[in-house]
Amino acid sequence: MGLEKKPLLLLMIDFNKLADILRENQTFLITTHVNPDADAIGSEIALYQILKMVGKESKIINHSETPYNLKFLDISNVIQKYNPAVHNQYFDSSDVLVALDFNRADRIVSMQAAFTESQKTKICIDHHEEPEDFVDFSFIDSNYAATGHILYDLITTTDIVKLSKDIAAPIYAAIMTDTGSFRFDRTTAKLHRIVADLLDTGISPTEIYNNLYDESKLAKIKLLGKSLTSLKLICDNRIGYMIITQNDFNSLNALESDTENFVNIILSIEGVQVGLLFIELKNGFKVSFRSKGKIPVNKLAGVFGGGGHLNASGARFRDTNMMEIIPQILSEAEEFFNNYSKG
Ligand code: 5GP
Ligand code: MN
Repeated sequence: MGLEKKPLLLLMIDFNKLADILRENQTFLITTHVNPDADAIGSEIALYQILKMVGKESKIINHSETPYNLKFLDISNVIQKYNPAVHNQYFDSSDVLVALDFNRADRIVSMQAAFTESQKTKICIDHHEEPEDFVDFSFIDSNYAATGHILYDLITTTDIVKLSKDIAAPIYAAIMTDTGSFRFDRTTAKLHRIVADLLDTGISPTEIYNNLYDESKLAKIKLLGKSLTSLKLICDNRIGYMIITQNDFNSLNALESDTENFVNIILSIEGVQVGLLFIELKNGFKVSFRSKGKIPVNKLAGVFGGGGHLNASGARFRDTNMMEIIPQILSEAEEFFNNYSKG
C-alpha cells in the first residue's frame, strides 16, 4: 500500500446559502473582471441561465467588451458593455450585485465606484487567492480550478436547476480554459468526471475548442510572431519574458485580448520556470506572470499591487512608462526567483 492521495474536499462554500440568496431575490446584476476570459464570460452566462430557469431577472454588465472568440458563449447577446448613463440605475434597482471570477473591486475598473457605492446586497463567487473584503457574502474557494466549477457544484449540491446543455456549454468552456485545456495543477480525476457529466448533456468539445482557439484573426497570429521576436531569457535561462508595445498593436491592428495565452509559450521552453509578458496599454501597461511548480508568482505580482493565482497572476501600472520600469521588474523577478529556489 502506497500513500493514498485523498481527494480534496471542497467544503468552504456554503452552497445552500448561495442558493437561498438566488431564490429569495428577484433581480440580479452580474459582472466580471476587466479583460474577461472564458471562465469569466462562461460563468456569467451559466449563472444567467440558472437564474432565468428559476424565474429571476438578471443583467450582465461588464467593463470590457466580450472578446470576439468568446461571443459564441453569449448566444442571446445579453452581455452589455458598461455605460454609466445607461447602467448606473441598475446598481440601485437590482436586489443583488454578483461579482463573478474576481475578488477585488479594482478588477472592474470603470464600474468600481458604482459597485462600491451601491447599498444593495453584494455577493462574490470566485476562485482567486487573497480576496478583498468588498461584498456582503463571499462564496470563494481557491481550491477550485474555475469559477464555472463552483457553479457546477452549486447545481449538483443544491438541485437549484437541472444541468442542461445551455448551462453545460459555458461551464465546460470555463473549466477547459482555466485548466489550460486540462493540463494545469487542479486537473483531477474528479474534475474529469465532472467534465464527463457536462458532455453527457450533448455539448460538443470539438465545437467549443474550435470557437475558443481555432478561429483566430490573422492579426493575432502576426502579433504572436512579433512578440516572439522580443523573447529573452535571463536568470540562467530560468526566467523568460516578452514585450508587446502599443506600436505593435497599432501596426498590426491587433487587440489586447489577442495576447491571451502568449505568456504560456514562454513557459513551454525547456528549463524556464517563470514567464513574464509586458503589454503596453494606452495608459500604462500590464504584466502577466506565469510559473511552473511551487513558485508563487501571485506574491511577485503582489509586490507591484497585483495578484492572482500561485501559477498565474497579473499586475497593472497606470500612467507609467513601461520601458523605464521593465528593468526594475526583471531584477525584482530574479531576486524573487533566487529566494524561492533556495528555500
Ligand atoms: P492574466 O495574466 O491572464 O491577465 O491574469 C492572470 C491572473 O492574474 C488572472 O486570472 C487574475 O487572477 C490575476 N490578475 C491579472 N491582472 C491582475 C491585476 O491587475 N490585479 C490582480 N489583483 N490580479 C490580476
Ligand atoms: Mn477563473
